Amino acid sequence: DFVEFNKFFNRIIDRFEMSKSQNVKFIRYIPEVSYFVDIDTDKLTQVIDNIISNALKYSPDGGNIRFGFTVQDNMLKVMVSDDGMGIPKENVSRVFDRFYRVDRARSREMGGTGLGLAIAKEMIEAHGGKIWAESEEGVGTTIFFTLPYELDEAGDWE
Ligand code: ATP
Ligand code: MG
Repeated sequence: DFVEFNKFFNRIIDRFEMSKSQNVKFIRYIPEVSYFVDIDTDKLTQVIDNIISNALKYSPDGGNIRFGFTVQDNMLKVMVSDDGMGIPKENVSRVFDRFYRVDRARSREMGGTGLGLAIAKEMIEAHGGKIWAESEEGVGTTIFFTLPYELDEAGDWE
């Protein structure tokens, strides 16, 4: 499907913002320029749902989750950033492995299978993008992913 990314992204964030039970503030840095992406909307929704539910799961009471995107190297670069417990440096790249969960004890309490980010990586790469995490323990985590985009609805006719 060919969709306007800002609307698509805002709609997903709205859904979480309306249903969340935690005391966590959502802050959006979403440009009003129209960027169109040619995506499987169900799959991308699943990817973003997992990233946001992780951010909520690991957010402290009173924390913020920041959402944004920019254009970099001809790609949309999307970020979701939280003030949560973070991920130890040596484990950051492994969170995209199947069934990998940072800390068995804390993960058991949180529920989940450890598949969310592995699926996200597969889906983002299938769309021609990349996904990675930057994190600092006790400070927070930012998940980034990129997607190819078009500036006009007609698509790229070159
Ligand atoms: P599932 O998504 O299958 O329900 P999950 O959330 O545990 O389970 P992933 O989404 O793949 O699995 O995340 C893998 C692990 O990475 C998590 O178990 C957690 O340890 C760590 N992690 C992911 N996102 C964050 C985050 N925002 N803050 C801190 N740790 C995170
Ligand atoms: Mg998850």
